[in-house]
Amino acid sequence: MSDQQATFRRFEDGANPNDWDLEDKIFQQDKSHKCPTYVHKTPPCQGSCPSGHEIRGWLAIARGMDKPPVEGMAWQEYAFERMLEANPFPATMGRVCPAPCEAGCNRNEVDDTVGINAVEQYVGDWANEHDIKAPAVGTDTGRKVAVVGGGPAGLAAAFFLRRQGHGVTLFEANDELGGMMRFGIPGYRTPREMLDTEIGRITSMGVDVHTNTRVGKDISIEKLEQSFDAIFWALGAQNGRPLPVEGWEGTENCINGIEFLDAFNKGYVLGTANRVVVVGGGDTSIDVASVARRLGHITHVASTDHPDGTLIDFTAQDVAGSLVREGMQATLTSLFPIEQMTAAEHEREDAKREGVDIKGGVMPLEVIKDANGRAIALKMCECDMKGNAPVAREGTEFTIECDIIISAIGQSGDMTGVEEMDNGRGFIDTEAGYKVKGRDKHFAGGDILKPHLLTTAIGQGRIAAETITDYLDDGDIDKRPRVDVHHFNLMAELHQRGKDPEAYDHMQTRGTNDAAFAVHNYEDRSATQIIRHTELFKGHFDLIPRGRRDEVHIEGDAVLGNFEERIIAYSEEQAQKEGERCLSCGMCFECDNCVIYCPQDAVFRVKKSDRTVGRYVDTDYTKCIGCHICADVCPTGYIKMGLGE
Ligand code: SF4
Ligand code: SF4
Repeated sequence: MSDQQATFRRFEDGANPNDWDLEDKIFQQDKSHKCPTYVHKTPPCQGSCPSGHEIRGWLAIARGMDKPPVEGMAWQEYAFERMLEANPFPATMGRVCPAPCEAGCNRNEVDDTVGINAVEQYVGDWANEHDIKAPAVGTDTGRKVAVVGGGPAGLAAAFFLRRQGHGVTLFEANDELGGMMRFGIPGYRTPREMLDTEIGRITSMGVDVHTNTRVGKDISIEKLEQSFDAIFWALGAQNGRPLPVEGWEGTENCINGIEFLDAFNKGYVLGTANRVVVVGGGDTSIDVASVARRLGHITHVASTDHPDGTLIDFTAQDVAGSLVREGMQATLTSLFPIEQMTAAEHEREDAKREGVDIKGGVMPLEVIKDANGRAIALKMCECDMKGNAPVAREGTEFTIECDIIISAIGQSGDMTGVEEMDNGRGFIDTEAGYKVKGRDKHFAGGDILKPHLLTTAIGQGRIAAETITDYLDDGDIDKRPRVDVHHFNLMAELHQRGKDPEAYDHMQTRGTNDAAFAVHNYEDRSATQIIRHTELFKGHFDLIPRGRRDEVHIEGDAVLGNFEERIIAYSEEQAQKEGERCLSCGMCFECDNCVIYCPQDAVFRVKKSDRTVGRYVDTDYTKCIGCHICADVCPTGYIKMGLGE
């Protein structure tokens, strides 16, 4: 171990093997008289990933345990295929997702999370560099679905709908696809070439794309209803919330963060003011402050003379050849203390390093204006949070002088022209399966339900594509599983390796251990259960520091005019090494512990020709005495004592 603190210890201080009563603890304690069963559960990384990525599966591919089923296929391509089962944006998500999967990873209970996000980026980038094509589209169903909005939810839905064989027409109000990934996140975090490749892969599947087409203005809802069998609403949330303080409304130099980033990403913001205050605390506010630091203050512009130096709504031609950038002061304020801000920790750290002054635990009180009605300062005070509501601390008021105030405290949908879909708060209400409440054939997903992560929008697009398929099939939507992710499927695994069980002849059989129609002794609980770290044998694992991605660290004013990507992707070797750190929670990873430790030689390896992931070991029940040693030494929690009553 390096300087890393172990979160799990095999032994307590002073523990001595001579004190252990193995006879009593192991051989006598099991009164169940049960034999092992092999139980697949969902790992918590996957359960915490809103897009439902089969993370354990592609980490097993990265470390070489799960080999490509096709001769000559690179492991990266196989891993990429697995990623696409849940999420068509691995390169993008590997860069900007705050990775709730890593927070949920059981390896946190051993030493530190697996670097899931970094492996995801490596594989996504590899696929882009090697021009890996989109998966095959499904057999044409003859059904047509309209997707309204070309952001992460709309594109994910289009991807999965095409895989299921439905015709997809996508309407996007902007002139390019990508939504928040393009217009909300700066290009140094989602490089445009990468984004174009991932989006191009989706549109290449035969999606009929109509850009510059706003539903409600250029085409009516009625027309969509007449022309399509189902409609998926993925409008996103582009209306930034104003600051709810005195002096904000109607003040020219008080703007919202979504508009600022949209204008910047479209090339309409070339510089900002000398002193900018951003009010927020989430990723958007970090992006706003970091972009402002990069743009800097433009001190000399030939043809324009804007009072605060902000160059918003100017094109490059307006100021061509005459820009002089100087450093500016960006202050970011958050109601929550810094360590509780919703922005990811590494984003906060980058912003601080790049010179953003972050103030946590403070609330805005009033916009202070000059005689011309322009904001010149933001009055604030310290606060305590009661749930999500700030409570001002009396006597702590202070002001931050500034030239622009930017609000990045939340957003809602722009429902212009589609008011009939509005729930009254700028969003769309849905019920089970992302069906729009009270409207037949309408579905919705992404930020238009409630602004959340990109990965959430992608997951909702995937699930909605499945429920739309159900709906198109018989008008009903099937009940979704409790753990609604893309699960490893042993039957599909056997199938792709040409090892399908034989057809069941419906005759009576005594036992199934030799039956060719049965997948003997395997139980799939992944749709209902997530495996906790307490079910693993954590003592099996060595403490290995997590391999972190390198990053270009930009200090202070060096950030000025720097729009280069900061993250340095893993090498192949790093990705494979990180794959090895995965504990394979809830799925056998072929360590042989159970085979080695079984005192009866009851546990054996499945014949090599029959082996696949999930079919590595088996038990001879005529030899098993129900001692449960195999279950105790199984590091992955895959063995449960079940049979034998
Ligand atoms: S150890 Fe592996 S399978 Fe387990 S939660 Fe972490 S990434 Fe997922
Ligand atoms: S002990 Fe090892 S080989 Fe046996 S089931 Fe568990 S993970 Fe697989």
